[in-house]
Amino acid sequence: MSYQLTDKFGRDITYLRLSVTDRCDLRCTYCMAETMTFLPRKNLLTLEELEQLCASFIARGVRKIRLTGGEPLVRKGLMGLIENLSSHLESGDLDEITLTTNGTQLSKYADNLKSAGVQRINISLDSLDRDMFQKLSRRDALDQVLTGIDAAQKAGLKVKINTVALKGTNSDEIPSIMEWAHGRGMDMTLIEVMPMGDINEDRFDQYLPLTEVRDQLARHYTLTDTPLKTGGPARYVRVAETGGVLGFITPLTNNFCAGCNRVRVTCTGQIYMCLGQADRVDLREAIRGPEPLKALNDALDRAMINKPEAHDFRIDKTGTYSGSNRHMSVTGG
Ligand code: SAM
Ligand code: SF4
Repeated sequence: MSYQLTDKFGRDITYLRLSVTDRCDLRCTYCMAETMTFLPRKNLLTLEELEQLCASFIARGVRKIRLTGGEPLVRKGLMGLIENLSSHLESGDLDEITLTTNGTQLSKYADNLKSAGVQRINISLDSLDRDMFQKLSRRDALDQVLTGIDAAQKAGLKVKINTVALKGTNSDEIPSIMEWAHGRGMDMTLIEVMPMGDINEDRFDQYLPLTEVRDQLARHYTLTDTPLKTGGPARYVRVAETGGVLGFITPLTNNFCAGCNRVRVTCTGQIYMCLGQADRVDLREAIRGPEPLKALNDALDRAMINKPEAHDFRIDKTGTYSGSNRHMSVTGG
């Protein structure tokens, strides 16, 4: 069977973001609470099931797969999964396998990723200051991450730095992180914090609209819009003074849903058609049933009918926001 996944608004779905675990070795304050309860391991799809799922998506027109989590590199056997998926790169059915990682495990895995066919990765980094990094991630792991970034670049992986802009914590550091990233030949993307899951903090206290950040940056740097497209929701500018590219992901100040080309699958096989909405379809039930291929295709068709037009993320004032009660680490960022 081979036909394109298209939702009822005519959007072709060509991009799968697959969360391979909800576990993580950091505890970023905007992502999860320190006392996060993780899913029982028995609920997770096996590596074989993850591979089978990916094959079904590829047969239906998905061209790009991003592995995420939780922290994808803490999932045992992940490298084997990537190696197996790379056969779809060789056959030309898939354009790209990529990864979003916090970087802590990269000194161990960067070479393997490159040799398995991964060309570029996103690394999340919210501060270059050891104390601030520890405050934001609740772990003293900045050096480990920086060593991981070195290893990734040395292995020949193209690296993009993702930074969540957070009011009153890393906001003053954004220019210096950008200069550091651009100085090392890495693009950088800023992300607005999204109201996803309970984190024992008020989202309003964290939320920094990127419109403000852009205005601030424009006082010191020459920002020129670029039409660069990477298949994601970011809008990009080129920064004349650094020569680098800076992206803005603005789910709150500038909704980008009209061009949505993606779906997300959790490590338990739930497909969420929108990061900010609760609708989901159970692919694990389909894959574990008597006729997995047919059941999966039927489930994907159902998912397409139910893909909503847009999210409705909002953070207005203290205690008032609309979003999702799932943590980002569950759905996969
Ligand atoms: N652990 C990996 C990492 O941190 O890159 C992958 C998973 S993480 C959930 C993916 C991305 O989501 C990271 O860039 C992280 O900063 C971002 N993120 C997590 N929670 C978020 C939130 N509530 N709002 C905006 N971005 C968030
Ligand atoms: Fe872990 Fe990534 Fe969430 Fe930080 S943002 S706690 S690294 S999953």
